[in-house]
Amino acid sequence: MRNSDLFLKNGSKIAIIGGGPAGTFFAHFASRYAKESGIDVSIKIFDRKNFCMKGPQGCNMCAGVISENLFNKLEEEKIHIAKYCVQRKIEAYNFVTPDDCVTLHHPVPGHIPKIVTVFRGNGPLSSSYEYNVSFDDFLLDHVQNQGAEVLPEIIKELKLPPKQGGPVKVIYGEGASRTECEADLVVGAFGVNTGMMERLGKMSFGYKPPKTVRTCQCEIMLSNDHIERIFGNRVFVFALGNKDIKFASITPKAGYVTVNLVGRTDLTRNNLIAFLNHQAVRNLMPKEWEIPESFCTCISKIPISYAKHPFADRVVILGDASISRTYKSGIEAAFNMAKLSAYTAFKHGISDRAFMNGYFKPAKRLLARDNVYGIFMLKINDYISSKRWIANTQIKMIKSEKDLKTANQINEILWNMLTGNVPYKEIFYKAMNPHLISRVLPVTCVAWVRQKLELVNVWLREHRYIKNA
Ligand SMILES: Cc1cc2nc3c(=O)[nH]c(=O)nc-3n(C[C@H](O)[C@H](O)[C@H](O)COP(=O)(O)OP(=O)(O)OC[C@H]3O[C@@H](n4cnc5c(N)ncnc54)[C@H](O)[C@@H]3O)c2cc1C
Repeated sequence: MRNSDLFLKNGSKIAIIGGGPAGTFFAHFASRYAKESGIDVSIKIFDRKNFCMKGPQGCNMCAGVISENLFNKLEEEKIHIAKYCVQRKIEAYNFVTPDDCVTLHHPVPGHIPKIVTVFRGNGPLSSSYEYNVSFDDFLLDHVQNQGAEVLPEIIKELKLPPKQGGPVKVIYGEGASRTECEADLVVGAFGVNTGMMERLGKMSFGYKPPKTVRTCQCEIMLSNDHIERIFGNRVFVFALGNKDIKFASITPKAGYVTVNLVGRTDLTRNNLIAFLNHQAVRNLMPKEWEIPESFCTCISKIPISYAKHPFADRVVILGDASISRTYKSGIEAAFNMAKLSAYTAFKHGISDRAFMNGYFKPAKRLLARDNVYGIFMLKINDYISSKRWIANTQIKMIKSEKDLKTANQINEILWNMLTGNVPYKEIFYKAMNPHLISRVLPVTCVAWVRQKLELVNVWLREHRYIKNA
């Protein structure tokens, strides 16, 4: 039965909690679908964070790599990232082990990928850019130009309508103050670094937030000349054999590089210091470089599972707080989910059932199932990263001119894993290619035997069964 109350109509009010990518992309698509449907809705975005501020206060804490897929999707939506937001164009990735390094390129020869790096806020604490460089502020500006209103407020509480219907009550305000407004649809785009997740988790509609781990990142100031010479237009990704670290990268910007560490469990500043002190990282820094006494650093959470029941009548939750891509391209996932949920709200209604069928089930098909392949591929990646002899073997195979087909296959898998350019499922099937396995396996076995022989040799020397050369 169609409950006409649970559809958006002329005069409907939409309240979006959070002005990060998920919130602004929802506002973008809501404006578009409202226009297409010929209805006039009001869109209010609540976010107290001021993206014009420098440092963690204005930042939504991320490496700031805009994937090629997202770049193209934004262009299709006529969202052209402002030049002043673009810190650097990325053309390649460098894969670094303690002993070696290889440059990975886009699998299509000659194709220059449209990957760019940005700051989510207005740059690190010590920065002094001429314009406001914030990507999140740029997106907010874009949706304000489309008619959305931005309120610098923090949402405290939601009160769902009673059984007989009516709007959701949204309570916001600073400290003890409590201002109330009504919304026909509430969009939860509050990310995972907020108490809002737990508050909504305690409500009766069944929302269970995703599990998260704490990541660690910092911005290191370096001269433009040094960044240009050493990093160039390449993101550096490290496989240093550290079992605690799942992913470590250095992303070049203008005047800074962003260091990112994602661990198996919560990371701390100590992990960051250990990473910065690693010889493979020091090799990329200027001579005599020392870790600065103070630098812009943050510990932010990343989702490692997806939420349960992120919707109710008149409520939909998206972005990191709902369902995202495991460890990769979170902003693109927020874009896709914002489009799906806004389409559902305007075309199929704002009931629990509409969001279940139009948003969450397709989202799970798109992301959650793919994440299963992702988890498998990431486990293989973890194993390779923790065994430097395997990582070194792979690098040698890519660098070797002898077997170009295999080299290109490994390059393509690593490129797609690092850029998040294609679904994990596709990467999985490419990795299971019989030709690739038939080439990689024997070389890896030989490397394993060599490595074991070396260990035996070391043991024999240590126990003086053989003399040192
Ligand atoms: C270390 C790290 C590196 C990453 N690197 C990349 C990368 O390079 N590329 C990429 O695509 N993704 C990356 N991601 C993922 C990406 O940051 C997220 O997927 C993306 O920010 C999710 O967007 P969101 O809008 O859901 O949440 P957020 O970006 O977290 O935005 C949520 C917003 O809601 C606001 N808010 C919270 N609570 C309230 C409240 N009660 N009232 C009002 N407002 C509220 C916050 O102030 C915030 O502005 C990275 C993540 C981490 C942790």
